[in-house]
Amino acid sequence: MTYPTQPTASHFINGEYAEDTAGTPIDVIYPATGEQIATVYAATPALIERAIESARAAQITWAAMTGTERGRILRRAAEMMRERNHDLSVLETYDTGKPYQETSVADATSGADALEYFGGMAATLTGEHIQLGEDWVYTRREPLGLCVGIGAWNYPTQIACWKGAPALACGNTMIFKPSETTPLCALKVAEILHEAGLPAGVYNVLQGLGDVGGALVTDPRVDKVSLTGSVPTGRKVYAAAAQGIKHVTMELGGKSPMIVFEDADIDNAVSGAILGNFYSSGQVCSNGTRVFVHKDIKEAFLDRLSTRLKAAVIGDPMQPETSFGPMVSERQMNIVLDYIEKGKAEGARLVCGGTRLDRDGFYLTPTVFADVADDMVIAREEIFGPVMAVLDFEDEADVMARANDTEFGLAAGVFTRDLARAHRVAAGFEAGTCYINTYNDAPVEAPFGGSKASGVGRENSKAAIAYYSQLKSVYVRMGDLEAPF
Ligand code: NDP
Repeated sequence: MTYPTQPTASHFINGEYAEDTAGTPIDVIYPATGEQIATVYAATPALIERAIESARAAQITWAAMTGTERGRILRRAAEMMRERNHDLSVLETYDTGKPYQETSVADATSGADALEYFGGMAATLTGEHIQLGEDWVYTRREPLGLCVGIGAWNYPTQIACWKGAPALACGNTMIFKPSETTPLCALKVAEILHEAGLPAGVYNVLQGLGDVGGALVTDPRVDKVSLTGSVPTGRKVYAAAAQGIKHVTMELGGKSPMIVFEDADIDNAVSGAILGNFYSSGQVCSNGTRVFVHKDIKEAFLDRLSTRLKAAVIGDPMQPETSFGPMVSERQMNIVLDYIEKGKAEGARLVCGGTRLDRDGFYLTPTVFADVADDMVIAREEIFGPVMAVLDFEDEADVMARANDTEFGLAAGVFTRDLARAHRVAAGFEAGTCYINTYNDAPVEAPFGGSKASGVGRENSKAAIAYYSQLKSVYVRMGDLEAPF
């Protein structure tokens, strides 16, 4: 099978594609058909060494450039990504199986937004001046050095850019390791950045499984680790990074609540539930998978939801009308099917879906369980697939306590027409990202990230700068210096 913008080798190191077929082969599978579309090879120790050495060397010259110069390159790359959006979106669809209808508006475009935003900000990054009588202190905002980015498989282009753009804007270099399930897209990001003028070695991509990520995280020449992944992986990577007292950003999993009050606009709430459960076939970290619906409107909500789900167009993700694609891999599909069986066994009511489609590829149907109890496995664990759990409630205080009764704290949403209640509930949520009468927006201008076990640090917005730079205080004495002896 051929497809546009095919990367020409497995890795991107020091400004060029690199290959070493001695590494473990990784099959790249198109989730819509199960066909193998490429093979990449995990990075060997020699390639890891080359990437680290070139990234460290490049960091000195990259940081010495002005913010305006750095930013211009990032903004040029953003423009190139937009011009090539079609091809990049097709590649994203091959990598992940997500419908072109989604990838053409949410992946390379979102990556381009990050490059443009942080490219614009690069020239504005400054320290401050603190006057102390005739003496003073000034602060320098300095890069951390070499940052490692490790990505999940659901948004391979976006994650490569969300981590790379702020890191590079601050004068760091990056080695990005994509998920082995979706290795292709980050290579195109590296290629475009260099075509836009990025000096060799500033942004590198290495393929591999957890062991390659592990080797990068534990290397003493790496200053920062930014992971997007599950909570169990986050625990391991955070602990490994702590050994070297490295800076971290952890964007981890969730089991986020969405509360639909009795006064909500039901169609809007159903739209929120669809966006927060079935976009990208449910493979979105911030999904609102515990949908608490007031008992007075529960049946109306479920009726409307079932009708709307019948309009989902499931099929070939390359067709523009397709709105629901396959799962990313056979493995992930089987994990989700196991959860569906658990839901049935625990006595939840299957309202719709719950099956694998009888066709090639890893297709599930959008699945809704009602009458879900708080202690069921499908209400407690992150499924990372198209499975919505609908729970009933009657009282605001009670539902808030139940919504927050989880180790996760990534996102949360509320649907109501009552303004005061909406803000009270948002304030009460134990979550990093909250939504009122909407769900799953992630514009680059706003901070994104989790609280509790869902993460450490924030991506996007001005807030991300704090996680990719450090302040140095410089004390300046104007007069003579006295000492006790
Ligand atoms: P995983 O946690 O399985 O893997 C994430 C990345 O970490 C992969 O690249 C993986 O490599 C790598 N990795 C695994 N073990 C180690 C290790 N010991 N040291 C270093 N790197 C390691 O996540 P998935 O790819 O399955 O993605 C799904 C998860 O990501 C979900 O929990 C989801 O909620 C979360 N996520 C969070 C987001 C957020 O912003 N908060 C956004 C998107 C997803 P490999 O897979 O190649 O072995």
